[in-house]
Amino acid sequence: LADRLESAWKKLRGQDKISQSNIQDALREVRRALLEADVNLQVVKEFISEIEAKAQGAEVIAGVRPDQQFIKIVYDELVQVMGETNVPLAQAENKPTVVLMAGLQGTGKTTATAKLALHLRKLDRSCLMVATDVYRPAAIDQLVTLGKQIEVPVFEMGSDADPVEIARQGVERGKAEGVDTVIIDTAGRLQIDADMMAELIRIKQTVEPDETLLVVDAMTGQEAANLTRTFHEQVGITGAILTKLDGDSRGGAALSVRRISGAPIKFVGVGEKVEALQPFYPDRMASRILGMGDVLTLVEKAQEEIDLADAEKMQEKILSAKFDFTDFLKQLRLLKNMGSLGGIIKMIPGMNKLTDDQLQKGETQLKRCEAMINSMTPQERKNPDLLASSPSRRRRVAAGSGYKEPDVSKLVSDFQKMRSMMQQMGQGRFPGMPGMFGG
Ligand code: GDP
Ligand code: MG
Repeated sequence: LADRLESAWKKLRGQDKISQSNIQDALREVRRALLEADVNLQVVKEFISEIEAKAQGAEVIAGVRPDQQFIKIVYDELVQVMGETNVPLAQAENKPTVVLMAGLQGTGKTTATAKLALHLRKLDRSCLMVATDVYRPAAIDQLVTLGKQIEVPVFEMGSDADPVEIARQGVERGKAEGVDTVIIDTAGRLQIDADMMAELIRIKQTVEPDETLLVVDAMTGQEAANLTRTFHEQVGITGAILTKLDGDSRGGAALSVRRISGAPIKFVGVGEKVEALQPFYPDRMASRILGMGDVLTLVEKAQEEIDLADAEKMQEKILSAKFDFTDFLKQLRLLKNMGSLGGIIKMIPGMNKLTDDQLQKGETQLKRCEAMINSMTPQERKNPDLLASSPSRRRRVAAGSGYKEPDVSKLVSDFQKMRSMMQQMGQGRFPGMPGMFGG
C-alpha cells in the first residue's frame, strides 16, 4: 500500500492546485486503504464522496505541498467522523453509574467488563460486576476469577436464575453498598438471535443503564456494520468498545460503528490481560485505518511544531538574507522535537533507503551544530560575519562548546553557503544543510 500511495503522491507532488484528476487518483488509493482496513463498503462510499467535495473546494495553502494538504483533509475528516476527541465513560449523578455490556459471544465482553472495572478502580471509582451469562457453564466462573484477580466483587446468582432478575438485584446490591459503578456482563450468541436481543432489551428496560456499550471484535471486518445497526436499532447503544486491536486488524470497524450508530468508541482492547484497555483516540485510529501511520505521524508532528505564520516569516527571512543562527537553531530544535532524525527521515516516502550509518552521522552533526550555536553570543548568531572575520571569536565558541576552532569555522562557512543557496532557491521551509550531514 505504501508503494501505491507513494506513486499516487508523486503524481500530486509539484502541482500547486488540487485538481479534479489528481484527486481521482489519490481518492482511489484512499478508497482502497479503507476497504483494506475492513471499513464497510457503504460507509466507504459515503466517506469518499464527502472528502471529494471537501478536497475540491480547498485552495492549496502556500508553502504546503498539495499531497500533504490532501492527506491532511482525508485524515481530518476521518478524525472528525470518529468523534474528534476521546469520550470518557458516563458518570451518573446519583450512584451507581450502570453500564450494560452487549455484543456477540467471544467478542470479549466478559474480559472487557473486568478491564473496565480495573480501569475505573484505578480512577478511584469502586465497581461491582454482575454475571448474567447463565447459558455457558463457565461464564460465571470466568467473571468470578477475573474479579478475584483485580479485587473487584462479582454479583452472581448461579446459573439457574433469570438474567433479568440477576441484573436487577445486582444493581440493587450496588446501590445498597454505595459502589460507584455497576457493570453488567451479558450473554452473547454466535450470531444475532431474537432471544438474545429480547433478553438484552428486558435487562436494559429493567436497570435503565447510563451506558450501553457494544463490544465489537475488531477482526469482525465488514460485518461490524450490520452488527452495529442491529444492536443500535433494537437495543440502543451509547458507546462501543473495540476489542482485539492487538491483532492484525487495521480497525476499520471503528469507522463503521461510529458512522452507523453515531455512538462514540470509548475504549479499545489491546490484549488478553486485564490491563490491556486503552481510551479510544480518533486521531490514532485514523492513522491506523489509513495504514500510513508513519507518514501521518510526520504530518501531524510537523503541524504541531510549525504554525503557518511562523513558517511564512521564516521564508521571508530566508529570501531577504535575514536568516541567522537563531533561526537555524530554531529549525534544529524543531527537528529534534520531532524525534530522532533517523526516525523522521525514514518516515518520508522514498527516503527510507538511507543507511543507518548515514543517518547516525546526520544526527551527530545536528548535535554538534546545536552545541556550537549555543556558545555564540546573540550578536554572533544574528550576524555570522562577525565569526567569519574573527578567529578569536571562533576560538571562544570552540572552547565553550567543546569543539575545535576549525569545526566552528566550518559551521560558519557551511551556514553562509547554505544561506546563499537558500536565497537562490527562494523556497523551502526546512533549509537544506549542504555539507552538514557529513557527506
Ligand atoms: P465474551 O464471550 O464476549 O464474554 O468474550 P470473552 O471476554 O470471554 O473473550 C473471548 C476471548 O477473547 C478470550 O480468549 C479473551 O482472552 C479474548 N480477548 C478479549 N479481548 C481481547 C483483546 O483485546 N485482545 C485479545 N488478543 N484477545 C482478547
Ligand atoms: Mg462472556
